[in-house]
Amino acid sequence: MTAAAWQDLVGQDAAVEQLSRAAAEDRPTHAWLFTGPPGSGRSTAARAFAQALQCEVEDPTARGCGQCHACLTVEAGTHADVKVLATENVNYKIDEIRELVAAAQDHPSSGRWRIFIMEDADRMT
Ligand SMILES: [Zn+2]
Repeated sequence: MTAAAWQDLVGQDAAVEQLSRAAAEDRPTHAWLFTGPPGSGRSTAARAFAQALQCEVEDPTARGCGQCHACLTVEAGTHADVKVLATENVNYKIDEIRELVAAAQDHPSSGRWRIFIMEDADRMT
């Protein structure tokens, strides 16, 4: 069974399988890199993974339900512990990264984890 959060990832069964298994673990690997050409679904995959990690459903294999408060706020971009970072600059500025590192050390405010989705990570030099 595939939880709702993954349904936008059409034709990515292997990735969905790996990410949903990781989300069900107690201690998933702390950083993930989603690679692929523009339009390949990197942001969608990262958001679905964040939903599965924060989902409030008891059964770890059903997380990413798409209906609980955590799933809905991740989708809406308003979850307190899921931040999406993007830069308009050619490279991320060192101050932006310092802020990120400092924020990453805080405890989650309501979710299970603190999650940072960093777009265009290749702009970190
Ligand atoms: Zn949920």
